[in-house]
Amino acid sequence: NRLPRIVILGAGYGGIVTAIRLQKELNYNEADVTLVNKHDYHYITTNLHMPAAGTDDPKNARINILNIIDEFKIVFVKATVKEIRPHERKIVLDEGVLSYDYLVIGLGGEPETFGIPGMKEYAMHIRSLNSVNLIREHIEYQFAKFKQEPYRREYLTFVVGGAGFTGIEFVAELAERIPKLCKQFDVDPSWTKIYSIEAAPSILPGFDQELVEYARKTLEDNGVEFIVGTPIKECYQDGVVLATGEEIKTTTVVWTGGIRGNSLLEKAGFDVVRGRVQVDPYLRVPGHDNIYVVGDCSIVMNAEGKPYPPTAQIAMQQGISVAHNLVATIRNEGLREFKFESKGTVASLGKRNAIAIVGNRKLKGYKASLLKKLIDIRYLYMIGGIPLVIRKARF
Ligand code: FAD
Ligand code: NAD
Repeated sequence: NRLPRIVILGAGYGGIVTAIRLQKELNYNEADVTLVNKHDYHYITTNLHMPAAGTDDPKNARINILNIIDEFKIVFVKATVKEIRPHERKIVLDEGVLSYDYLVIGLGGEPETFGIPGMKEYAMHIRSLNSVNLIREHIEYQFAKFKQEPYRREYLTFVVGGAGFTGIEFVAELAERIPKLCKQFDVDPSWTKIYSIEAAPSILPGFDQELVEYARKTLEDNGVEFIVGTPIKECYQDGVVLATGEEIKTTTVVWTGGIRGNSLLEKAGFDVVRGRVQVDPYLRVPGHDNIYVVGDCSIVMNAEGKPYPPTAQIAMQQGISVAHNLVATIRNEGLREFKFESKGTVASLGKRNAIAIVGNRKLKGYKASLLKKLIDIRYLYMIGGIPLVIRKARF
């Protein structure tokens, strides 16, 4: 009689929380649990805007998976998932094949470029430690190149496409970093330009108006130029073209215009909307009672029938719910429906500044940025206890 095999794909917010809850709730000899991730570390996606701009060391966003999982309870496989075969209950990896009885898919999102010509080829993205290392090194290199060709101002022009939360958090870090690079490379700061370009009529569309105004003013004071109500319609090697026909010459475009689910879900034959599966009340793929989807690959509807935005907050709560339901299934107990409980939203505007809504309270400035730090610490505690807080928390 073999044990039921649970395979978790992806060690992001959804996947790692599922794994950690399973290791807590399962007794020995109740199930074989395998966690698959393409790196041997978990990255704190919610902080990637900082190493991307170079305002924080990338090692602060990197956590070794073997430091936080119990290898007696969970087998970790460092591999890239190539294919999900739901009808054979198999996962094809870059090296080898895994079989499962229960599957949890937490493979995260991919940049959504809406078919904008050149965006895939020429823009950079804030998605992983590797992708942000590229952005940081690229930005420094532009300063070095400008010193070689000082007539080419496009080296000092930085375009961020999309002013949702990712775009705004990144542009705020960039506004702190660029003056430092100017000093380091002996460049007149007035030669640099940071553009944040947004298709909607306002930055942070849909967010509280007063906080949006505060964010806009803070960032403008720090040198960010906003162009709103103007989609980017093309990206090429030396610049972007706006819907107005205007061209901005730049050698640096960071695309933060949205995300979609991992393309492996569509390839698996699941019904998807922008790569994401609308899951059942237990977070399972409709028609596949043994497959759960968490995080940016899933769609959960709110009471008004609109999808919740894909966030780390919902991914973590989904991880807890899926772990509970997997244990219940194995023990022949009843399943619990998933209910998202919003704890609020905090967006950073640089090192000591942020905006936040918690319940019906609005916060801005230093207090809001402290709240962000507390959320980070709570997460570190949840996945790694006090030792991880001591090693990784940024007080
Ligand atoms: P991810 O955390 O993206 O993890 C996916 C994992 O799957 C990764 O470990 C990846 O390596 C692995 N993987 C991918 N493909 C493969 C493959 N083929 N094979 C093997 N492994 C694979 N949300 C909030 O709630 N609050 C915030 O403050 C916040 N801030 C953010 C700031 C930034 C800069 C960004 C970019 C996002 C932010 N978000 C925030 C959103 C949040 O980060 C995501 O919603 C969350 O990371 C989604 O979690 P996930 O588990 O779905 O995927
Ligand atoms: P998003 O989809 O929320 O925002 C993308 C922005 O790009 C939108 O404002 C959109 O209007 C704009 N856009 C789209 N096409 C464009 C074009 N052609 N030209 C110019 N602008 C264009 O994506 P995101 O900011 O990456 O966020 C993804 C998810 O992660 C969201 O659910 C968000 O809530 C979450 N997130 C949360 C936080 C936080 O809570 N602090 C931080 C980052 C991300």
